[in-house]
Amino acid sequence: MSVIEQKGMYPEFPRCGKPHARTTHYCPGCGHGIVNKLIAEACAEMGLQDDTIFVDPVGCGVFTYYYWDASHISAAHGRASAAATGACRARPDAVTIAYQGDGDLGAIGFNNAFQAASRGEKFGCIFINNSLYGMTGGQMAPTTLEGEKTTTTPFGRDSSLTGHPLHVCEVFNQLQAPVYIARVSVADTRRIMQCKQAIRRVFEIQKEHKGYALLEILAPCPTNLRMDAMKSAEFCMNEMEKEFPLGTFRDVEKGVSGIEAVAHPESKVLEAKPVPLVANCAELFDDGERTPEAVDDPSVPEKRFKFAGYGGQGVLSLGLCIAEAARLERRHTLWFPSYGPEQRGGSANCSVVVSGTAIGAPTVEHPDVLVCMNQPAYERFAADVKKGGAIVVDETVPVNFPPPEGVALYRWPAIKMAEDFGVPKAANTMMLAALKKFKLTGLSDDNLENALVASFKKKPELGEKNRELLRKASQA
Ligand code: SF4
Repeated sequence: MSVIEQKGMYPEFPRCGKPHARTTHYCPGCGHGIVNKLIAEACAEMGLQDDTIFVDPVGCGVFTYYYWDASHISAAHGRASAAATGACRARPDAVTIAYQGDGDLGAIGFNNAFQAASRGEKFGCIFINNSLYGMTGGQMAPTTLEGEKTTTTPFGRDSSLTGHPLHVCEVFNQLQAPVYIARVSVADTRRIMQCKQAIRRVFEIQKEHKGYALLEILAPCPTNLRMDAMKSAEFCMNEMEKEFPLGTFRDVEKGVSGIEAVAHPESKVLEAKPVPLVANCAELFDDGERTPEAVDDPSVPEKRFKFAGYGGQGVLSLGLCIAEAARLERRHTLWFPSYGPEQRGGSANCSVVVSGTAIGAPTVEHPDVLVCMNQPAYERFAADVKKGGAIVVDETVPVNFPPPEGVALYRWPAIKMAEDFGVPKAANTMMLAALKKFKLTGLSDDNLENALVASFKKKPELGEKNRELLRKASQA
């Protein structure tokens, strides 16, 4: 099907210097892509494109203004429901739809969304629940399941430390004002059809200006679940639905209300289930490995690293390697990625902290060691490196200004070495070789090598090949 045939969407999505892009920025298998299409179709089929104001969130859904051919307002993080309140009050004749994710609505924006629902503002809120923060790299969200591994709950969410999953529909269903509350899923074809009906219902309610409507949609995030598209869809059906049962909690006009809603005959389109405890989520994520506890050693000073370059150059993996080597050495360590809404391409960086004692903050504003794979990385971070620290730049990077006084600069041919070895993708391994050769990590060579090999767990032959390249490059 050509993009032009996709109702309600622009024929081209000219974003990020890609003037004629016809694909969305979503990862393959992402639930957002399906929901975006359903929303666009529903809006167009109901003849509402000229009347609709979409309020776009911060998160993986941030770029909907490139896709839906209607009016848009971009809200600050968590503020889509607040902005939607303004929009629907200023334009009571319009159809206002806020689009939010579970980090955006369930965490930072929860009070905005909850109070708007409590006031019965006349807008529809479409809320994507994929059980984690997608755009920022898969951290725990309020909706993360117990036992689910995320980058901030690497041993699985432990409710005694981080609380229980937040049931947004059930909480909002305690309010008097909302006229419609439902939860659906896009994990398979039948559910997608049900989701489309529910989205149409939200538009219908807003078209008639009946009141506040909340539609939660369970959606797979294969990238951060680290599963393929099929497995992440199964995760939605087999694990998320146990915690977040599908159903229409309330549809006042149709007589579905309150706690009976999940069993109400009117909710037959959306089968509801009771809420059992999630028993096997931990097993699903448990790969059998237990991370050894870090050992306190105050004689080991804290060392802060920043790795920066383009997405695809492996800077995040390089940072993970250092964190893994520190873990193998029983140090305290943190890895903190940072990138834009597109997980591939664009700028990416990560911070790593290694210490002999507990670490306070994961962010690194003044690194001891900075690794730059491209020019923007050097220009952005070089001036922040601490006195006595070091900067390693790929030799292709123009050094437009000298490093700060007292900071060593190493120019290293990582990209060229990788090409000369016939493995251009291994430029990050070459950078690791520089860190090893110049002894910039404070970690043992064995642990650096073993961490590198461990990063290729699914392809052990590549791990050994990279170990060999690392040894050769660090002797250069
Ligand atoms: S990171 Fe997850 S939620 Fe974000 S676009 Fe990729 S699959 Fe979708």
